[in-house]
Amino acid sequence: MCGIFGVHGHADAPHIAQLGLYSLQHRGQESVGVVSIDATGQARAVRTMGTLSDSLAQELARIPGVSAVGHTRYSTSGSSTIENAQPVVARSKGGYITLAHNGNLTNAAELRLELEEQGSIFASTNDSEVIVHRLARSNAPTPSERLADALSDVEGAYSLIVAMGDTLLAARDPRGWRPLAMGRLGDAWVFASETCALDIIGATIERDVEPGEIVAINANGLQTTHPFPARELRRCVFEYVYFARPDSRVFGGSVDRARRALGRRLAQEHPAPNADLVFSVPDSSNSAALGFAEESGLPYELALIRNHYVGRTFIQPTQAGRDAKVKVKYNAVREVLAGKSVVMVDDSIVRGTTTRGLVALVRGAGAREVHMRVSSAPVTGPCYYGIDTPSREELIAANSTTEEIAAHLGVDSLGYLSLDGMLGAVPSGPGGFCHACFSGDYPTPPPTDPDKLRFGCGC
Ligand code: 5GP
Ligand code: SF4
Ligand code: MG
Repeated sequence: MCGIFGVHGHADAPHIAQLGLYSLQHRGQESVGVVSIDATGQARAVRTMGTLSDSLAQELARIPGVSAVGHTRYSTSGSSTIENAQPVVARSKGGYITLAHNGNLTNAAELRLELEEQGSIFASTNDSEVIVHRLARSNAPTPSERLADALSDVEGAYSLIVAMGDTLLAARDPRGWRPLAMGRLGDAWVFASETCALDIIGATIERDVEPGEIVAINANGLQTTHPFPARELRRCVFEYVYFARPDSRVFGGSVDRARRALGRRLAQEHPAPNADLVFSVPDSSNSAALGFAEESGLPYELALIRNHYVGRTFIQPTQAGRDAKVKVKYNAVREVLAGKSVVMVDDSIVRGTTTRGLVALVRGAGAREVHMRVSSAPVTGPCYYGIDTPSREELIAANSTTEEIAAHLGVDSLGYLSLDGMLGAVPSGPGGFCHACFSGDYPTPPPTDPDKLRFGCGC
C-alpha cells in the first residue's frame, strides 16, 4: 500500500509535499520520495529508503518547485529496493514524466512483457513503470488524453498523480479501489490519498477524484474527463477497517465513524457480558474498541502501550524478525490487567503472529480471561489490489476454523465480525465495496503471474 500526494501552482511546492507526506506515512514506510518540478519544467527527485527523515527534508528545502509529486511506499517482500521507490521519473520526447501510484495492476505482467518484446527496458520491478512507458509511447495531443491512452488496457487498482510539463494529473481506476481526495490551498490545487494530508497543510477539501475520472490542471485551469467505460464500484473496505487514519475521510465517509460502527456491530454480534473491561491493540483498532465499549457499556482501558519509534510489524520481511518485534513494539499495563476478564479488540488478524504474541503478553500481565474480538471478517485470501496481505498458506483464517484459531492464539473466546455486519457498518451502505480478501469474491481474475511478489506491487 502507499500514500500519494500532488500539488500544483504553489511557490513552495516541495515543502508542501513534505508536509503532506508526513500525514501519509502510515500508508508506507519502506521508502519515501518527492519529485519537484520547477517553472522551466525541470524535474528533480529526492528519494530515500525508510521514512521521511530530517536529511530528506533538508534536501527538499534546497530545491525549487512550483509543482510536486510525493509518495510513501509500503513494503512488499522481495522488492524492497531504492529502484522501486517512487515517484517514478523519466525523460521522454515531451519532457519529464513523473508518476506516483497507489494500487496494484492485475495485468501488469502481460503489459510489461508486451513492452519488453517491443524493446522497452525497465529500471524497476514495480508495476507502475508500465504506465510510464505507455505514457512515453502515446501520441495523444494533450496530457489528459495521453494518460487515458496509457491506461486504456490497464486492469486493476490505481490512484495516480502524474506530472507532465506544466500539467498535473490525478486519476482513479473506474472501480475506485483506492481513495484520492482533492483540495485547494489558496490558488494551488492539492491531491492526497487521505484528507488528513490536506488538513496538515491547511487546504480546504473540495471533493474526491471520482472513480474513472482524470483531472488535469495547468495554466488553463482544471479540466476533467471520464474516459473509461463505467464499472461497478469496488472501493477497498479494508481502508475503513485498517488502513486509513481515523481523522481522514475516504470514499466520502469518516474513517472514525466507520470504525466506531464496526466496533458497535461487533459488540452486538459477539458480546462479552461478563468481562470487566475493553481495550484496543493500538493504534489501528482504537476507534473500533471505543465503539465496542460504547455499545457494551464496558469501561475502555489502555492496557497495551505501543512504542511509536518502532515501525509496523509487517515491515519485517522474515517471520523471526516479526516475532521479536511484537515485544519491542508493545508492552502490557499490569495494573489494568491483573485479575481481570478482558476484551481485546483488534481490527484484523492476518497471520496471527502478532495477536498470539499479544495474548501471551496480556496473560503475562495477569489477565484472568482474554476474549478476543475482531472488527472485520476473517481474512481468507490475498489482496491483488494494493494491500500486501500474504499468500493464502500464511493466512491463519484460510486454513483453520475459528475454534482452531482461538486455541492457537490462547484466548478464552474469539469472535469475528460477520461479512454482512462489516459491510453494513461502513458508510454509504454495503454496496460498491471490494471485500475479496474476506469473501473470495474477486472483481478481476487474479494476476497471471503466480508469484505476484516477484513482479512487485508498485505501491
Ligand atoms: P497478526 O496477528 O495477523 O500477525 O497481526 C494482526 C495485526 O496486524 C493487527 O493489529 C492489524 O491491525 C495488523 N494488520 C492488518 N493488516 C495489516 C497490513 O496489511 N499491514 C500491517 N503492517 N499490519 C496489518
Ligand atoms: Fe481491499 Fe481486501 Fe479488496 Fe484488497 S482484496 S482491495 S484489501 S477489500
Ligand atoms: Mg493493528
